[in-house]
Amino acid sequence: MTILDGNKISKDIKDEIAEEVIQIKSKGEKVPHLAAVLVGTDGASMTYVNSKVKDCEMVGFGSTLIDLPEETTEEKLLEIIQDLNTNDDIDGFIVQLPLPKHINEQKVLMAINPDKDVDGFHPVNVGKMTLDLPAFISATPFGILELLERYQIQTSGKHVVVIGRSHIVGRPMSILMSQKRKAGNATVTIAHSRTTNLENLTRQADIIIAALGIPEFLTGDMVKDGVTIVDVGITRIPDETKKRGYRLAGDVHFESVSPKAAYITPVPGGVGPMTRAMLLKNTLLARKRRN
Ligand code: NAD
Repeated sequence: MTILDGNKISKDIKDEIAEEVIQIKSKGEKVPHLAAVLVGTDGASMTYVNSKVKDCEMVGFGSTLIDLPEETTEEKLLEIIQDLNTNDDIDGFIVQLPLPKHINEQKVLMAINPDKDVDGFHPVNVGKMTLDLPAFISATPFGILELLERYQIQTSGKHVVVIGRSHIVGRPMSILMSQKRKAGNATVTIAHSRTTNLENLTRQADIIIAALGIPEFLTGDMVKDGVTIVDVGITRIPDETKKRGYRLAGDVHFESVSPKAAYITPVPGGVGPMTRAMLLKNTLLARKRRN
């Protein structure tokens, strides 16, 4: 069994990006600049945004954190997005989700200039991704592709079962894996909450991408020997033995699945750090495309 080490691969990617930033600087050009908008004080969102800003510093990007109070109106947020859309200093920006209930998430995502939409959530980017045109691929699916590629996992002709059909993970993942690409050309089954006899599908799968958000859902009896497992799930489970009061659990029961797996991502240290690295990669891409 080989661990698909997201910490190591994401570090490689960040080192490559940092090297490119040095090149950009040496030519006297402007370095990539990412802005992140956070509305409210949700603990997980604050952690995510802060780590994204820290990642920017690590590779030499510019970064701006726009920290707004919970009661910010939708109108005000849309105004800020318009400013970011036209601000020449900003190459790409993200609006951290989820947003407070009084703000229409769809409306906000639609307002982002697709050329600066480094999260790849705008319909223009989703459409281009679906048609296999140059686009911003959202960071989690992009990170999974990169991880599979760098470990040279054979995907062509393989049966991939994606569990989950969300717009940010399951759905794009299923599309990307079926396309003609290095980590692609697979036969894809997409499973969701209404799927019956899921274990019949997962037992046939050569590769399983679990993105449903139910901790330790996929167990050893549901997979065949030699399977490749990508565990996207991250759930905080209350745990008083931990200093921070919780532990992180994936969607895969690692103890029972890993002995049967050829390759498996751990949680933490698998898909999570890859997602962070690919946001940087998209920001670098945004900078290059604007040049
Ligand atoms: P979501 O809640 O939007 O979607 C969950 C999907 O799972 C739905 O499509 C639903 O139909 C499906 N599902 C629910 N119960 C099921 C069942 N019993 N059998 C089969 N399918 C079922 O979730 P999401 O935003 O895609 O996130 C999924 C998980 O991945 C969460 O734990 C989230 O925290 C994590 N996540 C991690 C990263 C990362 O960078 N590692 C990024 C995004 C999401």
